[in-house]
Amino acid sequence: MSDKNIGDKVAGKADKVSQRLVNLYLEAEEEIRRQLVEAISRGLNLGNRLQVLDSIRQIVNELTGSTRNWVEITVPEFYKNGVKEYQDLYKGITPLEGIGGVDFGLINTRVVETLMGNAFLEFGEAIQGVMRSSTAFINTATRVQLRDTIVKGEIKGSSIRNISKEMEKIFLDKGITAFVDKGGRRWSLSRYGQMLSRTTLMNAHIEGVITEGARHGVYFFEISSHPHLSDVCSPFEGRIFDIRTASQDDLPLYHPNCLHVLIPRPDLQSIPK
Ligand SMILES: [Zn+2]
Repeated sequence: MSDKNIGDKVAGKADKVSQRLVNLYLEAEEEIRRQLVEAISRGLNLGNRLQVLDSIRQIVNELTGSTRNWVEITVPEFYKNGVKEYQDLYKGITPLEGIGGVDFGLINTRVVETLMGNAFLEFGEAIQGVMRSSTAFINTATRVQLRDTIVKGEIKGSSIRNISKEMEKIFLDKGITAFVDKGGRRWSLSRYGQMLSRTTLMNAHIEGVITEGARHGVYFFEISSHPHLSDVCSPFEGRIFDIRTASQDDLPLYHPNCLHVLIPRPDLQSIPK
């Protein structure tokens, strides 16, 4: 199997299992939107504001729990697949385990724990972003309502309907944002979650490949090449690096829709000049 096929296969599988999580996020977004619109149409007195934020907090808590479960199942699975992926390449190489007294069982556990921990934090931040964004939205809506009341001197009826319309527009324009990236782009939870879940799983796979390589004393890896539209990985294709000295910057494989994989190079003892 070519490395492009491996990348495709891992990415395809990652997308498939990510979809379960993304569907939960999509449902949650729809429910939050429904609750916000409803709260606005009821009128945004303090009681209603607290009530709607409370029910959004419940949705957010549930999402945190489901995301945790998802991470705990999928990350170890993708890591293990990474460990297995190139096993044929290591046939005939005696693993360090046992002879060097290195406990790779323990190392695997630690790496998986770290990967899961990082994923919890990243997803957690995005989910909390939904809470912050919803609170900000409600506060904006309340100010709009207040302004409208002052201008028109009325509280009920047409005033609330106008606000609903205006807020609906603000909501549609901006949506509920989970994450703002460095370029200032706003991501919804479902879109960001889709990117994050795939990246998380591809990353788990790659870490499995690296650790299994280290178990066999293989420290040189090549970044796979395949025809694709130019992206951040393009300058790295075919590059060989030593995992013991490589920094995070040597490994660009963490962008959306990345199909690049690491190929262990047991045949190398140094980086070819
Ligand atoms: Zn890539």
